[in-house]
Amino acid sequence: MKFRVAVGGFGAESNSFSVESPVREPKEKTFDRNLLLENFGKKTTIGGFLEVLAKAGLDIFPTSRIFWGPTGIISRESYEHYKSELIRRLENAGKVDGILLDLHGAMVVEGYLDGEGILLKEIREALGEVPVVAVLDIHGNITDLKVNNASALIGYKTNPHVDLYERGKDAAKLLISIMKGRVDPVVSLKRLPMLGPNLGMSTWSYNPKESKNLPFARIMRRIMEIERDPRILNISAFIGFPYSDIPESVTSVLAIANADSKLAGEVADLVAEMIWESRNEFIKVRPLIPVNDAVDMAINAPEGPVILVDVGDNAGGGAPCDNTVILEALLRKGAEDAVVPLRDPEAVARAITAGVGSTIEVDVGGKIDGRFYKPIRVRACVKVLSDGKYIIRGPHHGGYMARRKVLPKEAWKRADVGKTALLEVDGIEIIVSEGKVGMEQDYYKAAGVDPSQRKIVIVKSHQAHRASFESIAKRIIEVDTPGSTSPSYKGLTFKNIIRPVFPLDPI
Ligand SMILES: [Zn+2]
Repeated sequence: MKFRVAVGGFGAESNSFSVESPVREPKEKTFDRNLLLENFGKKTTIGGFLEVLAKAGLDIFPTSRIFWGPTGIISRESYEHYKSELIRRLENAGKVDGILLDLHGAMVVEGYLDGEGILLKEIREALGEVPVVAVLDIHGNITDLKVNNASALIGYKTNPHVDLYERGKDAAKLLISIMKGRVDPVVSLKRLPMLGPNLGMSTWSYNPKESKNLPFARIMRRIMEIERDPRILNISAFIGFPYSDIPESVTSVLAIANADSKLAGEVADLVAEMIWESRNEFIKVRPLIPVNDAVDMAINAPEGPVILVDVGDNAGGGAPCDNTVILEALLRKGAEDAVVPLRDPEAVARAITAGVGSTIEVDVGGKIDGRFYKPIRVRACVKVLSDGKYIIRGPHHGGYMARRKVLPKEAWKRADVGKTALLEVDGIEIIVSEGKVGMEQDYYKAAGVDPSQRKIVIVKSHQAHRASFESIAKRIIEVDTPGSTSPSYKGLTFKNIIRPVFPLDPI
């Protein structure tokens, strides 16, 4: 008898401090057969599921995959609509022996703190005790609701994330073992009173030597050694997503053992202890530099590119991408040969109306999030206009673990940031785009700038840019900018996080 496995996806990384909530339109929507067409042979989480299921000769039933991306709080109406679309497909699938889901794990919905947890609970209510294995982002918030309503949850092991495909394969293999009755997963969850810290909990670097010295990479290597024990089915160490501001948006460890709850508990305790012991090292490994100092360091550096990371305005953490603090310092200090990305649909429209070669007086940035910074008036020349659609060909966050300039085609990814305009102001190039800015070299190139040829490159990121920029960067400086993704949490008032918590409180 052939097993029948349903495959789907659902998720968001909700920043509860976002001024753009509620979010209605998902960023990615894939339904039914397209889920197979878009993922077969690709280095995605679902691509990993499909490869293993197809090799095992199983019957695959595609449902839907809905991702809102890194964003704000999801509108209740949008959430209910797409959740019922997924559950309806599962109910109509006929006999299903197992379910594989590609989740994120940090979705906050209007009125609900754990969007994906409720989805898992409703799937169980609708389909009964069918085994469900889900892959979650390493920034997933691990609630009891999620753990109690799935057979197994598997987290990414990399930050920036370059192992989606590998974890997809792990999940599918585990589901097959569960369906065949070979294993009986028992789960132990250990939550730590710790908010990230995401910057220092980096695991992967383009330069393998640097990866070796990262404290969280060291812990991940240890985890993978422990996983070689055949009694252990999976160990995931989740950073959590502090900016969701739910009681569980903290660091947590999930250990899954085969029918041995004592062993699962011991392993979860051991890994949690390793992480807790390293908490001060995570803070030290990526120090935050004040804006003026960082810009001086970049200007005075003997050679570029120097990457200035606008951590308070992380495109990958639900921030608006219109922080002008670094641009203001660059202009004030007379920096040259610098490129700054900003999301500003109004400025793009002005540039398009004026046309290439014209000079415009325009306010850039600071229009979406007025709490932390202001728009800046510039007199700019319009250099290049583009449709903002491009293909990410090199290593990137959400991609594949290869260290080479161009990845194999199955790992390429299409991106769309809306229309863009390249403006030039006194030797500083400003890329304005309608949508959130990109975090890889291809974004800059598509807008008309080769970042490897610039002295100073601003990126709006925490970790994500590292997958792409480490191959060209002479130096990367994390700049202590304000905003809804500030790693020092300055100006952010948490309402739901359990206190005391590291690093906000003395513990
Ligand atoms: Zn993540």
